[in-house]
Amino acid sequence: MSDTLVENREGKLIKQKNYIMNHNELWKTVLGEIEVQISRPNFLTWLKNSELVNKDEKEGIALVGLPNNFAKEWVKNRYHKIILGSLRNVDSSIKQVNYTVTSTAPQIVKKKEVPRGLELTDEKLNTISELAINPKTNLNSKYSFDTYVVGSSNELAFAAIQAIINDVGKKYNPLFIYGGVGLGKTHLLQAAGNAVIQKYENKVRVLYTTSEKFINDVVWSVRNKRMEDMKKKYRDIDMLIIDDIQFIGGKPATELEFFYTFNALYENNKQIIISSDRSPAAIPTLEERLRSRFEGGMIADVSYPDYEMRLAILKTKVQNQNVSIEDWVLEYIATKIQRNIREVEGVLNKVVFFEEYKHQKITQKKLDEIINETAQITPKNVNPQDILKTVAEFYEISQTDLTDRGRKQEVVEPRQVAMFLLRDILKLSYPHIGEKLGKRDHTTVIHACEKIGKELTHNQNLNQKLMLIKEKLFKTC
Ligand code: ADP
Ligand code: MG
Repeated sequence: MSDTLVENREGKLIKQKNYIMNHNELWKTVLGEIEVQISRPNFLTWLKNSELVNKDEKEGIALVGLPNNFAKEWVKNRYHKIILGSLRNVDSSIKQVNYTVTSTAPQIVKKKEVPRGLELTDEKLNTISELAINPKTNLNSKYSFDTYVVGSSNELAFAAIQAIINDVGKKYNPLFIYGGVGLGKTHLLQAAGNAVIQKYENKVRVLYTTSEKFINDVVWSVRNKRMEDMKKKYRDIDMLIIDDIQFIGGKPATELEFFYTFNALYENNKQIIISSDRSPAAIPTLEERLRSRFEGGMIADVSYPDYEMRLAILKTKVQNQNVSIEDWVLEYIATKIQRNIREVEGVLNKVVFFEEYKHQKITQKKLDEIINETAQITPKNVNPQDILKTVAEFYEISQTDLTDRGRKQEVVEPRQVAMFLLRDILKLSYPHIGEKLGKRDHTTVIHACEKIGKELTHNQNLNQKLMLIKEKLFKTC
């Protein structure tokens, strides 16, 4: 075996037998084992940048290095068992694992130092933002109301959140916020948590989690017989924020645990804030008793921002990043991307990168290129007329049947479906939809949308119809 020159922790070169090869290889194998045991996002966030710093052959002690203190504490608390188990599987001489912060930690890439030509990957952006996460509350300090733009699409949700911040646990409990991807739900929830911590100086204990994290926790606790710890974690708090609850549906054991958690908190006047990509009625696999709990509180939706709001968001981001981007560029992005603020941001980030680090002026052509590669292909051109036409054709009735005030039984379902789709796809307001469908009252529309949403949870036939209608609609647009 040949010696290898390696740098020790004081920076001196020392001889060591195949140091790098052995440790790297061993750790790679161990990571391979760990990777299949925890969720992909968790793996990427917490373990991808880990390394095996040392292995004390005599004592059987492995020293695992993490890039920063947060990561070290987090990994130690959450993944120790898995790490030890996997290490032992690969190398049975190991008896103990210790953790350290490595000097080779990936540095936060400071903006203006990014070398030319280096691509700004999502992964890198994630690494940067993950570093700001407080392991106790799971809150990321990058989210605040200073950078949150309020407009007609989110004012109700925003107002409800403000009321809660001033009166935790007493108003709007639970608060259920729903809306499509990239419309600012996580930002709003996290900013609420940060604001509460700040206002009450840690006297109000906040815990932010996602339903995926919650599911992982339940599974892990059951497997490791640590349910008591898990209960404590989720119940010894004053405010539980749970993001993307839709994933909890269809997992009965987790749903039951969540139901107990929910009740324990609720009965003690603890605040619960929930987000989802759709209304409680439209989560097909959600248990009825959870659904009715959610519906018993305040429900607020966030919908698509209008042009002014999109432009305001872009201007806020530009200001925060302290860069200057020409107005026409911002206006163009705001015009082109309408349905997802994350995409709006994604395009802006790439433009900033292009101008600030590559030192090139953006052209119309380049901007179009960026927009095309970033924006998801969604049926952008669907308008209300298309929806009415497609629904009428599908049910083989005339459009007038759909929009006049007649009460024929056979047009009840088509009308309700049309209302539902106008809301679901275009996010039109209830009064606006009522206006389009024979000047009906907005409460009729709300009733129709809720009815269809609920039906969809168990009526396969209706599901099928809606799928076919959408297919037809998106094909023609
Ligand atoms: P969601 O959780 O609804 O999928 P996010 O909260 O992750 O959406 O928002 C996506 C991105 O858009 C985030 O970077 C967020 O900061 C930004 N964003 C969304 N809504 C707003 C808003 N109203 N003002 C400023 N930024 C926003
Ligand atoms: Mg989110």
